[in-house]
Amino acid sequence: MPTTVDVTPTLDIETRLFINNQFVNAVDGHTCKVLNPHDGSLLCEIQEAGTKDVDAAVAAARNAFPAWSKMPANERGKLIYKLADAIEADREYICKLESLDTGHPIRDTYNLDIFRTVATFRYMAGIADKIDGRVVQVDPGFHNFVLRQPVGVVGSIVPWNFPMMFVSWKLAPALAAGNCCVMKPAELTPLTALRIAKLAQNVGFPPGVINVIPGRGSVAGQHLAEHMGVDKIAFTGSTPVGRKIVQASSTNLKRVQLELGGKGANIVFDDAPLDAAVGGSAFAIFHNQGQACIAGSRLLLHEKIADEFLEKFIKLAKSIKQGNPLDPATEMGPLTSAGHRDKVLSYSKVATDEGGKILTGGKAPNREDLAQGYYVEPTIVEAKPNDRVCQEEVFGPFVTVTRFKDEAEVLKIANGVIYGLGGGLWTNSLQRAHRVAAEIRSGMVWVNCYKRVSPGSPFGGVGESGYGRDMGVESIHDYTDAKSIWINYDAQIPPFYKR
Ligand code: NAD
Repeated sequence: MPTTVDVTPTLDIETRLFINNQFVNAVDGHTCKVLNPHDGSLLCEIQEAGTKDVDAAVAAARNAFPAWSKMPANERGKLIYKLADAIEADREYICKLESLDTGHPIRDTYNLDIFRTVATFRYMAGIADKIDGRVVQVDPGFHNFVLRQPVGVVGSIVPWNFPMMFVSWKLAPALAAGNCCVMKPAELTPLTALRIAKLAQNVGFPPGVINVIPGRGSVAGQHLAEHMGVDKIAFTGSTPVGRKIVQASSTNLKRVQLELGGKGANIVFDDAPLDAAVGGSAFAIFHNQGQACIAGSRLLLHEKIADEFLEKFIKLAKSIKQGNPLDPATEMGPLTSAGHRDKVLSYSKVATDEGGKILTGGKAPNREDLAQGYYVEPTIVEAKPNDRVCQEEVFGPFVTVTRFKDEAEVLKIANGVIYGLGGGLWTNSLQRAHRVAAEIRSGMVWVNCYKRVSPGSPFGGVGESGYGRDMGVESIHDYTDAKSIWINYDAQIPPFYKR
């Protein structure tokens, strides 16, 4: 990691749409401003895709699909490996771009996001020629086997919280399985997706296999979700927009995969390794300014250790270094937009209106050097399980604390929300670890750690956190259809209608 980073945003940024291997302007000429969340300054204006641009990108992907899906799988894998190498070689530039665009501290983009991005492309590159079907035992005289075939053209729609990483989560398994992609990044943070498109062009992906079209959700996103030429939508975003995607998909009954919101319960038992739990719980909520669907945003503390835990946890929260994301010493940057900062701050009043107690934070930092940016102090609020702050996704550095007496009570609280994405527990009891992990209603559970992800491990939720999985072999199943083929190899078998 560089010890100093040039903080002047003078990068040569690609601002056009990437369609059929060309960078082009939007047909209608609309543009959208991209701001630096550290100080609200203008980073660039990007071309904004309208419906005609979506049509062009889908047509390019459709044209590319026959050759791409029939290309030997190891050749597809080789190209994906090359893209991973190109992103890794671009580390200095792309991490700075991501930090400027999103507000993520450079220490995180540089030490976490880039590795996860590259690792996901590499994992899926390796899986490309290992997508096997199976042979099924059926009646004698028949051979039945199941092929996994690509679904076709995949539209990917992603949010603004981990834009670089989401390119890999959505593109890598889709491409490895032989699909062609039209990706719509979030309008707030399109820059690293366009950078990866540029790198894909450099390493030689055939035209139309990857298309990247930043644009508004209500225009480009909606049109993509309704499009008759799209076979699947892979969506990451909020639960309300997830519902709209399901409705829009009904035009041609395309497949839908939904990675939606979360309200993760992070349970600390009285037999937990306490210092590890304090540090891990801070990472669970304050990493990426709490803008993570899998954030541990509900801290549930056993009453016996609650006071001791809170004393340490509040002290840690107050010591987190907030500042310019490009400063390598910064541990927490700004939120990604002014609108989102205002929404997060509004939850302080929501909490106190219902009797919640703000233990620290709850406001913007009182620092002149951060006054123009979208900063929020690490916030800890003691609240009751049914309060709005314990039920609604705040999506910021805002954690609720609730005390519990025993396992039965904590499971009721943990499972008492509409979401079911991630959850965790801290305990030194192996039996409790297994027992409670099995009972938490969620797609992922972490024991004595939090927010671990890996390309081989399936990522996704249950309930109103959505369905389908990113990563793991499970994602390959989500990007392929099972085709059952029957062969009659016994000429003696009589047909039903014999004349
Ligand atoms: P959002 O739902 O507002 O937007 C997500 C994407 O959908 C954006 O690209 C947006 O332009 C697009 N969009 C908006 N309206 C659309 C429409 N009508 N049709 C099609 N596309 C449309 O979410 P956000 O505010 O960008 O991101 C935050 C949300 O994402 C949070 O709820 C968070 O939990 C969720 N999220 C989930 C995961 C996960 O894997 N489960 C990961 C990260 C974020």
